[in-house]
Amino acid sequence: MKPVLIVEDEPDIAEGLRYNLEREGLRAVVAETGEKGLELALDRNNPPALVLLDLMLPGMSGTELCRRLRREPATRRTPIIMLTARGSESERVAGLELGADDYVTKPFSVRELVARVRAVLRRADTAAPARYEDARLSVHFDDMHVSCDGAEVKLTRKEFALLAALARRPGRVATRNQLLDDVWGQQYYGDTRTLDVHIRRLRQKLGGCGECIETVVGVGYRFTGCAGKGEARRDDEDES
Ligand code: CA
Repeated sequence: MKPVLIVEDEPDIAEGLRYNLEREGLRAVVAETGEKGLELALDRNNPPALVLLDLMLPGMSGTELCRRLRREPATRRTPIIMLTARGSESERVAGLELGADDYVTKPFSVRELVARVRAVLRRADTAAPARYEDARLSVHFDDMHVSCDGAEVKLTRKEFALLAALARRPGRVATRNQLLDDVWGQQYYGDTRTLDVHIRRLRQKLGGCGECIETVVGVGYRFTGCAGKGEARRDDEDES
């Protein structure tokens, strides 16, 4: 089993994470610095299944490590979940735009974090699917067919492109800039409110399935799907 690589300079947090991941039956290794994290991530004999990356590190920063991991062929697709401080929104957005998959804000619930790790690992197993499908919603990427509760949903090309950009990576946060780039292209200089207008219209057309798109305040949007919402949502389970 490939390990979860924890890059975290605070020993108490790193040990707490390791303990809880191992209790869940996962393997974990700890790096106290970004430099050590890079070395372990590129270890051919023991490559990580996923990286839990603290952004506030001495020496090489978490965002710099994220950039390096995305540049290396061996780690280009390795999922990264960032651990960020409350209020460090610009760093979080930078990390997501560098290719991190998700983030959790400190202080976090270990249970939530483990659930995120499991969700990201599950997704990493399946490569480029031709469709997204859950109990209620289905999105076919090739022929642009969308249905909610068995009824076809008619979308414009832009609306479909937006839905596809989100649904291709369930659970992952997409920043506003990423979505504008994906759907409108790099040449788009218009008002970013265009994005919100399209999201609103898309949610309306999806009707009962509209809640599959979650707003991540100050960052962008996250596609959660309509089934098994428990895994991607926060605050929906008691801490017992
Ligand atoms: Ca730190």
